[in-house]
This record gives sequence, C-alpha cells and structure tokens, in this order.
Amino acid sequence: MLYLDHAATGPVRPEVRAAMLPFLGDRYGNPSSHHTVGEDAAAALDDARRRVAAVVGMRPGDVVFTSGATEANNLAIKGVAVASLLRLGRPGHIVTSAIEHESVLASVDFLERVHGVAATRLDVDGDGLVSPDVLADALREDTVLVSLGYANNEIGTVQDAAALAAVTAAARIPLHLDAVQAAGWLPLAGTGADALSIAGHKIGAPQGIGVLAIRGRVPLEPLLHGGGQERDRRSGTENVAGAVGLAVALELAEAERSVAAERVSALRDDVTARVMTLVPEARLTGHPSRRLPGTASFTFAGVSGEAVLLELERRGVVSSSGSACAAGSDEPSHVLLALGVAPEVAQTSVRFSFGHHAAVDPARLADAVAESVAAVRSR
Ligand code: PLP
Repeated sequence: MLYLDHAATGPVRPEVRAAMLPFLGDRYGNPSSHHTVGEDAAAALDDARRRVAAVVGMRPGDVVFTSGATEANNLAIKGVAVASLLRLGRPGHIVTSAIEHESVLASVDFLERVHGVAATRLDVDGDGLVSPDVLADALREDTVLVSLGYANNEIGTVQDAAALAAVTAAARIPLHLDAVQAAGWLPLAGTGADALSIAGHKIGAPQGIGVLAIRGRVPLEPLLHGGGQERDRRSGTENVAGAVGLAVALELAEAERSVAAERVSALRDDVTARVMTLVPEARLTGHPSRRLPGTASFTFAGVSGEAVLLELERRGVVSSSGSACAAGSDEPSHVLLALGVAPEVAQTSVRFSFGHHAAVDPARLADAVAESVAAVRSR
C-alpha cells in the first residue's frame, strides 16, 4: 500500500517511539509531584520544552504543551481574545482568513456568538494567498489578534509569513500562525509570528500531543482551569511521553527539513506534471510555486473525488479528498470555494500528501491516478 495522506496523519517514527517508551514504562512520574519520581518526569518535560523552543525560536517558557493543534488553535484564539476582553472590558476584533482549518474558524465563530467579538475573514486570491495589503486594510483600532495558517492543509499554499508579520508588527497586533502543515517543511523560527500551533502527529509523533508556542508578552487566558500546570496556561497533568516524543520528532523534522523539502518538491512536481499530462481536465489547486513540498491537490472535472479515492485504493494508493476533518461531510470544501472553484468542481478534489521519506514511483502513481479517473468517468 502506498500511503499518501501525510497531511492527515503519519506513522510514529521509531526514534520517537524509542524516546517515549521509558515514560510509558518505569519513568511514569507526575511532573508536579515533589519526590524523585516526579522530579524525573519534570526534568524530562523541561528538556522537551527547551528542545521545542529551540526549533521554534522562542523561550522555553513560551511553549505550552496541549492535546493537539485543535486545542492549540482554540487556546491561541479564545485565550488571547478573552484575556483582552478581561483587560480592556470590551470584546475586540479578530482577523482570520476564509481558508483556515475548522479549529480556527469554529473558535472565531464561538467568540462572535458567545462574547460578541467582531471578526473579519479575509478573502484569498485564486491561489489561496492572503494579501498583506488586504490584511493591513482589515486591521482596526480594536483588533486583538490575527490568526492565519502558515500553509494550507488542503491545497498546500504557503503564505508570505514575513510580509504578513511585518503588517501585524507595525500595528502592534499579535500574529498567530497555524503552523501544523508547515512543520517539517518550512522554517518555524524567525517567521515574526508571536504564536505558533504545531501537531505532533503530522511530524512523526503520536496523535494527542501538540504545542502552542506563544511569546510571554501576549496576554493569554487559559481554556482549562485546574492545577495551574504549564505556567497556568493549560491545567491538567502533562502528557510527558507525548511531549518527549514531540520534541524528538520536531528536532528530527527540522534536521532533515531542507534535504527532504528539495527531494520531495521534485517528486511532487514530477507527479504533478505526469498527472496533468495523462488526465484530461486535471487542475492543480493552490499556488503553482508557493506550496508545501509534500502536497499536490487536484480537481478532475466530472468525477466524484470520493469515487476516485475508492478506485485509487483498489490500486493500492491511499489518499484523501482534502481535509480529514471534513471527512464524512458532503459539503464542498470551504477552502476550494474561497478560491473561486465552483461547488460541483470542488467535489472532484483529490489530495496527495507525501512524508519526508516518500518512496514513490511517479510514473506508476500517475498511471494509477489516470486509470482511476478514467474508471469513474466511464461509469
Ligand atoms: N490545523 C491544521 C492546518 C491541520 O491540518 C490540522 C489537522 O488536520 C489541525 C489544525 C488540527 O490538528 P489536530 O486534529 O491534531 O488537533
């Protein structure tokens, strides 16, 4: 089987599993306990925090371990908005874009509904880019946060983070980047962002661990109240094994990043060119060059994307129609609609996403895609 759905999740790396195993065995301490077993766990957690901070270019104290990126995005958005509401006594305004992950869009919806926060969802261009000028125009005197995806999970478009950060910095408004898909492919340090979300399971750590790295100067109200762990920003006994695994995975992903990005980009371009040649009316979605090395997403006019996926799986290729989070939903992708893709074309989408170690024969994959689309078209 050829697994080409790494944007959804991927296997735990052996190095990560090995680093985690002691914490699932006899190093089981609670980092808050005041005895040697607890202190051992606390030291491991501190070490993981330092290692994550080094990769993202922030301070160890800026790293908040969470249950994943959904929680990290919720914490960044609701935490900053509620802190500002409490401080200033008014709801404020948030800027995001129309193509964000559901965990961002739903958090913003919640703040609008429950706290009366105002929100602007920026339009993107036909390739999925947010214009820094459009962002600048959207900022208001009461804007408390800008939250944007560094790279999009469905189409792979990579934003110009530096240009966007220059706009938010000039206005002194914190910038949160959902860096889930960027991790392992793009630099996480030096983006100019004040907060970054990362999910362990997209980079070779297990599901159920993530990070919100947020600079200490950004006021943040917790979502989870309790024992005051994570410097009172996320209560609950920490997932020590998960944090250790995430730190190892992030370091490995960073060490391999430039070599993997170059190799996998070439593979992606080869597959893309072959698919465009072999499949009539195939269209690549997202930006032609500012895109994640591992993501190639297409529309194939006149077919159901889901039907093509079944044909592909019969040929040993596992991929997805876009976002795993929208799986089971018959709605066309909000990302593709925001690019201006017609709803009936958006339903034809198929995304291939490669990992760092992708071993793919581009000709065989393109043949499988062409056969699968032809099989669905001939019905
Ligand atoms: N943000 C992006 C861009 C994602 O791709 C995902 C996962 O698909 C998430 C956030 C949420 O991550 P998780 O489901 O691990 O909480």
